[in-house]
Parts: sequence; C-alpha cells; structure tokens
Amino acid sequence: MANVTLRNVRKTYTGGFEAIKGVNVDVADGQFCVLVGPSGCGKSTLLRMVAGLETVTGGEIDIGGRVVNQIEPADRDIAMVFQNYALYPHMSVYNNMAYGLRNRGMAEAEIKTRVEEAARVLELSAMLERKPRQLSGGQRQRVAMGRAIVRQPKVFLFDEPLSNLDAKLRIAMRVEIRKLQRRLNTTSIYVTHDQLEAMTLADVLVVMNGGQVEQVGNPLAIYEKPATTFVASFIGAPPMNLMSTRPDEIKSQLGGAAGEAGIVGIRPEDFVITDQTPAGGVALPLTVEAIERVGAETFVYGSREQEDQRVAATPGELPPGEIIVRIPGTEAPAIGQKIRVAAVRQKLHLFSGDGRKRIE
Ligand code: ATP
Repeated sequence: MANVTLRNVRKTYTGGFEAIKGVNVDVADGQFCVLVGPSGCGKSTLLRMVAGLETVTGGEIDIGGRVVNQIEPADRDIAMVFQNYALYPHMSVYNNMAYGLRNRGMAEAEIKTRVEEAARVLELSAMLERKPRQLSGGQRQRVAMGRAIVRQPKVFLFDEPLSNLDAKLRIAMRVEIRKLQRRLNTTSIYVTHDQLEAMTLADVLVVMNGGQVEQVGNPLAIYEKPATTFVASFIGAPPMNLMSTRPDEIKSQLGGAAGEAGIVGIRPEDFVITDQTPAGGVALPLTVEAIERVGAETFVYGSREQEDQRVAATPGELPPGEIIVRIPGTEAPAIGQKIRVAAVRQKLHLFSGDGRKRIE
C-alpha cells in the first residue's frame, strides 16, 4: 500500500518566510491527487517536501506507512516528473530511461525488460535509439514519464509537467497521463495552477491558498459546493459571480444571523436570460457591455443597474457591477442592450461576509 499522508506539515524557509502553514492531506493508495492554487500558494514547496528535496519544518510526511521526514529522496520510493523534462540531450531515449536504473546498479537484462515495457506503454518503442532533439515536445514529455515509470515507484510526483507544451498538446498529454495512471494504478500527486487540468485529472483535489488548504475533495463536489469564496472564484471558468448581499436579505431569504452581511455567488452558467423572477431566486437587470462568442457558448459581460433591488451593488471579486453570464453559442444580445437575467434558488451559493465560510 502506498498511501501518502501529510500531517500538520509546515515549512518556514531560511529567512523566516512561512510557505506552508499546517497542511493535512490524505491520498489513498492508487489515487490521483492534484494540488492546485495560484502562483506562490506553496504547492511546489509541498510537493518538494514529499519528494525530499526540501526539509520539513514541522509535522509528518508518511509514505506507505513510513514517516519519511528524515529519509533521503533516493530512498523514498518516489519518482518525480518535472516541467522541463530534464532529459540528457546526448543520450538516446533508451539510455535516458535506463540511466537512473544503471545508477542503482540494476542488471542490464532487468533494465532492458523495464525500459522496453515502459516504451510499449508510452508508444515510444520505435524511438528508443533517437536523441531528445529528434522528438516532438509531447514525445519528450513521454520519455520523462518513462524515466519515472521504469523505477516502478510507489508514488509519482508531477511538478507542472505540461506547462511547457502548447494548448493542444497539453490536452492530449493530460488525457494520456490520466489513462496511464489508471493503467499503472500508482498513487500520484500532481501540481498545477491550471484549474481545468486539476478538475480533469484529480480523484482528489486539494485547493491551496497562501500556504494553507482551502478545500479538499472530489473535483465536482468542490465545484458544486465551494467552501469559501476563494475556491468559488478559483474553480470554474469564467469565475463565479460574487456579490455582497444586504443584511436583511440574508435574514429573510437565507436564514443568516440578523444584521450580518453575506456574499451571494452565482455561476455564469446558472443564469438564464428571462423576464421571470424565480421564487426565492435572484433576478438582475443588466446592460450588456461586452460579448465573447467562442463557438459552443457565448459569454455576456453586463453591468448591474441601480434599480436592482435584490442584491446590493457591492460586489465581491468582480469589478464593480460586472456580471458574467454564460449562454449557448446560438444566442447573443447586442452591446448596449438591456436584459434581465435570473438564477433559481438552488443555484445560489451563500457565504459569510468575509468569504471564509459557506452558509449554504
Ligand atoms: P508557482 O505556481 O508560481 O510555482 P507555488 O504555489 O508552487 O507557485 P512555491 O514555489 O511553493 O509556490 O512557493 C511558495 C512561497 O514560498 C512563495 O511565496 C515563494 O516566494 C516562497 N519560496 C519558495 N522557495 C523559497 C526559498 N527557497 N526561500 C524563500 N522563499 C521561498
């Protein structure tokens, strides 16, 4: 069993910067865990601590039932795949994959078996004699994966492995990594700042912010019930619309404490253009400011009007008064047109005024 457990893990860099402020995460055997968050939130630091490339200031890192805080990277039974591939340019694909195994003194026959098997899985069998410069970006990325696979580690660690690839290849490799992980069933921890990559790859998603975990869970569950406004605006694109509500609104409609201001969140796709006001829901008059047509869908950027009675004009994360609405690509209001959009009660997300707590 190769579960990975982080217990109250902390990291303070020399100089006193606290990059990780007590993180608890449990990755079950065979699971694909994705650490996602904005630049500087500490995800690489956390991954590097699991790899043993960074010392642990506090807490415990447990791999397969063994606390590894004091164990050398080479003895942790992990293999790491980096964004810059780190291939040796003068060596063939075969030798790039064999290198780490030779360093460990493995017999050539066993190395050959492992490299050939990895090449077969990665569809690199015909390219074993090539040098990295004779490969495409995606093929090089697969060789980097191959180097990790031949080690037969208990855990794969990925540090933004796709960030150097173009958009199309990123998607193709994303699918390949997921298929590969399902086939090998190796516990994996994957770092990315790309929320779409995170959503599509993760069995368990860890959303990080400022050195702390904001939310852990199944990606769709997090999408449906974000625990904080940070998660609400980070997961989902375009981001959830967040608006302050008036205290009396909270009290009467949503059962919060009297006098307490809150934040209402509505995803762009949960609005419809309509003159109706759904019972208990929200309706907003908007003036269309901009339209983005991207084929299957259209994004409408509207500004809220003053006569809007339901939601006070003090938005949270959005520029003042701006609301994003996502509608099917066949529809498109004109710029300057006045429209009314509405969302039903079940699609409203309600957070405390500081955005730190989900009320419902
Ligand atoms: P990115 O997506 O930009 O790589 P990240 O979430 O991976 O960001 P980390 O690289 O883990 O973030 O860095 C977390 C914080 O720790 C940042 O504020 C960074 O400046 C700081 N940091 C990273 N390495 C060191 C170091 N060696 N010494 C001091 N501070 C560091």
